[in-house]
Amino acid sequence: MSQGCGPIAAPDAAGLLRACDLLRSGSVCAFPTETVYGLGGHAFSAQAVAMIYRLKNRPAWNPLIVHVDSAEHAASLAADWPDAAAALAASYWPGPLTLVVRRAATLPRAPGAAADTVAIRVPAHPVAMTLLRECGLPLAAPSANRSEQLSPTRAEHVVRSLPEVPLVLDGGQCDFGIESTVVDVTEGRVRLLRPGALALGEIRAVAGRVELPEPAGREPDGAVRSPGLGGRHYAPRAKLVILGSITADDLRGLPGPAGILSYDQAVRGDATTPVELLAPDPRGYAAGLYAALHRLDDAGVKFILALAPPAGDDWLAVNDRLTRAAG
Ligand code: AMP
Ligand code: MG
Repeated sequence: MSQGCGPIAAPDAAGLLRACDLLRSGSVCAFPTETVYGLGGHAFSAQAVAMIYRLKNRPAWNPLIVHVDSAEHAASLAADWPDAAAALAASYWPGPLTLVVRRAATLPRAPGAAADTVAIRVPAHPVAMTLLRECGLPLAAPSANRSEQLSPTRAEHVVRSLPEVPLVLDGGQCDFGIESTVVDVTEGRVRLLRPGALALGEIRAVAGRVELPEPAGREPDGAVRSPGLGGRHYAPRAKLVILGSITADDLRGLPGPAGILSYDQAVRGDATTPVELLAPDPRGYAAGLYAALHRLDDAGVKFILALAPPAGDDWLAVNDRLTRAAG
């Protein structure tokens, strides 16, 4: 961990006090979660929410997830709490699962969200949990990066993407390294909106049948169903191309320096090509993905050739992020 560096602070008593002061005054601060670093603000303060959208340059149509410290607190923000929500919360909270439920009528409408829903999660990171308890506020906390860019999995990534951020609590490297799984339980069924850190099989094990999103987040009529699901997102600066195999021939003829993203040791570049080797299992691959893309960007490559990961449910979230990064 690197402390005493610009806005980065240790998550000790002094750091948490500063964070609580910022949050209570309607400002924002970044903090670690088990998925990625979040840019937190009081979820029901118009001032704080506006600051989150402005700092991130986040389009107003992309809704925020509200982070709270317990399932009871989450249920108090909902108009109703379906059995599926109760079962999933009991199994996976605190953890990397976001539930979309009907919003309690007393709450202000969330920007970007469908008129009557709210997305909620109880994060498992000890710093996030301590912060939620100490500030006593529900916190909206999208990933702490400029919109469309790579999500931060280290405190330094936050400062690079959001140099104006007033404070980043440093929790070291994020455990999962990929965003939460978002599931909609509002219509008497369980619908996957965004694949993420919690595997689909885990959700099925508790909820039974899970409806899957249309490819690329599109409805049969071609409309984009949910914000943040279409097109380019989670993207490095370099152009990312996904290939079924990577050989030295693929590198020749590219009009600029390239790097390789692989999970297969056998893939080799040439002497001048940086290679990022990720773990060959989906959880390990996801945990290293954004940091590897950050490093390839830092190396100044103009192209990233990524070896296509396996298909199948276990690799759903990794394939989703990689496809959007290639957007
Ligand atoms: P993040 O950018 O990681 O904070 O994730 C926000 C994502 O959560 C959005 O892109 C949506 O997919 C989802 N989301 C948040 N709120 C809602 C909502 N009320 N209804 C549907 N999806 C939501
Ligand atoms: Mg994000």
